[in-house]
Amino acid sequence: MNTHEIINEGKIHQLIKEGSTSTKEEVLAIIEKAKEGHGLNLKEAASLLMVEDPEILNSLMEAAQFVKEKIYGKRVVIFTPLYTSNECTNNCLYCGFRVANKHLHRKTLTTKEIVDEAKVIVEQGHKRLLLVCGEDPKKTSINHITEALEAIYKETDIRRINVNAAPMEVEDFKKLKEVGIGTYQIFQETYHRETYGKMHPSGSKKDYDYRLTAIERAMEAGIDDFGIGVLLGLYDYRFDVLATLMHSQYMDDKYHVGPHTISVPRLRPANDSAIKEVPYEVKDEDFKKVVAVYRLTLPYTGIILSTRESVELRDALLSLGVSQMSAGSKTNPGGYGEEDKEATQFETSDERKLDEILQVICQQGYLPSFCTACYRANRTGEAFMNLAKEAEIHEFCQSNAILTFKEHLLDYGSDTTNEQGNVLIEKALKEIENDRLYEITLQRLKEIEEGKRDLFF
Ligand code: SAM
Ligand code: SF4
Repeated sequence: MNTHEIINEGKIHQLIKEGSTSTKEEVLAIIEKAKEGHGLNLKEAASLLMVEDPEILNSLMEAAQFVKEKIYGKRVVIFTPLYTSNECTNNCLYCGFRVANKHLHRKTLTTKEIVDEAKVIVEQGHKRLLLVCGEDPKKTSINHITEALEAIYKETDIRRINVNAAPMEVEDFKKLKEVGIGTYQIFQETYHRETYGKMHPSGSKKDYDYRLTAIERAMEAGIDDFGIGVLLGLYDYRFDVLATLMHSQYMDDKYHVGPHTISVPRLRPANDSAIKEVPYEVKDEDFKKVVAVYRLTLPYTGIILSTRESVELRDALLSLGVSQMSAGSKTNPGGYGEEDKEATQFETSDERKLDEILQVICQQGYLPSFCTACYRANRTGEAFMNLAKEAEIHEFCQSNAILTFKEHLLDYGSDTTNEQGNVLIEKALKEIENDRLYEITLQRLKEIEEGKRDLFF
C-alpha cells in the first residue's frame, strides 16, 4: 500500500496556505454551516484552524459549544488509565519510558497485580478502563495484554476496557477482539514524516508506515472501534490536526467507519525526557481552538481529554467539545496501590480524586456518565456511526448517563457529590424528550435504588 495516499503532506500544506487566505465572511459562513452539526470538509477545517481574530475565535468557540450540546447534551464520560508496564524497547525522545532512560524504576505487573490495581480503581467508582503499556516484545507481548483483559473482566466490576498499545499484526488484533477489547487506541504522535523520524530514532516505533496502518489491521481483525490522535507540541498543530482529519476521512471513505474517538494529548514534562523544550508549543488558546475544530468537523466523534491538562483548562474544554475525560489517573504501573514518581511516564497536572472531579463537573452543569452500553449492545463501528450521525444515540445516552451516575452516587458518592448529583439527575430527566424512554428511565432508576445494578439501553 502506498501510505502517501493516506496522508498527503503536499495537500496539507496547500490547505494551510489556502485556509490563511479565507476572508472573515467566508469563515463566518463556515461557522454557520458547522452549527448544523453535519461536519465540515478538510478545506473548511483548515480555514477555521487559521483563525486568529479574537472576535471570530469567539464565534468558533460558541459554535463548538452549541454542537457539543446538540449531539452530546451535557454528558461527559469518565474513565481512568491502568498502566500495566513501563518497560519499553523504543526510544521516543519525549517519553519517560524510553529505553535510554536508565533512571526509571522499571516494572511489569503480573496478571494478579493488574487485577489488584483494577480493584482499587473499581473502589473509586470507575467502570471504564484504558489499559496502557510500553512496547517490549518479551514483557508486554499480546499474551500480557489479553490475559490482563480476561482477568479484569472476570474478577472485577470493570465493564469496558480500551487499550492503548503498540501496533501489531492482524493475528494479534484478533486475540484482542476475542477477549473483548472496547476501543483500540493508537496515536500517530505526529503525521509529519521528517519530525516523526527525528522523534523515534530507534526501536520498532521508527516505522511510520507500520504505525499509520495499524487501525486498518485492527479493522481487518474485526475491531471496528478505534481511536486516534497526535501528541500536540511535536510539530505544527495545524498540520497535525489536518492530518488527523485526513486520516479519519480516509478511514470513513474506505471502511465507512471514522474514529470512535480522537484524543488530544499535549506534550508534558517527562522523567529524563530527551526534549528539554517543547518543539512547537501549543498555547492554551490554540489548544481550545483545536478541540473546537475537531468538534465542528467531526461532530459524532468522541474527544478525549486526559489528566495531562490543568484543572482550569479541563473545566473550560468540557464546554468546547470534550466528551470523555480521565479522572484520578496514575501513569506508573502499580500507581493506584503505591506512589512512585520515578516510575511515571509523564507528569499529570490534575491530581484531584474522582469524587472531587465529579463535583466540579456537576457544578458546571455537566452530567458525568459511567456508561459502557454501546459496546456491550454491539453498537460499535458502522452501526454506532449511523446512529451517532443521526444524533439518535443522544436519546439513549442521556438515559444511560442518568442510570450509571445514579449507581455511582449510591455506591461511591460522598455526601456533597450525592447532593449535587441528585439535583443534576432531576434536571437531566426533564431533558428526555421521548415520553416512553422517560417512563422506562424512571422505572429503572427506582430499580437501581432498590439494589439492581447495570441497567442500560
Ligand atoms: N507504547 C505505546 C505507544 O507508544 O503507542 C502505547 C502507550 S504510550 C505510553 C501512550 C501515549 O503516551 C503515546 O502514544 C504518547 O502520545 C503519549 N506520551 C508519551 N510521552 C508523553 C509526554 N511526555 N507527554 C504527554 N504524552 C506522552
Ligand atoms: Fe515506549 Fe510508547 Fe513511551 Fe514510546 S511512547 S517510549 S513506545 S511507551
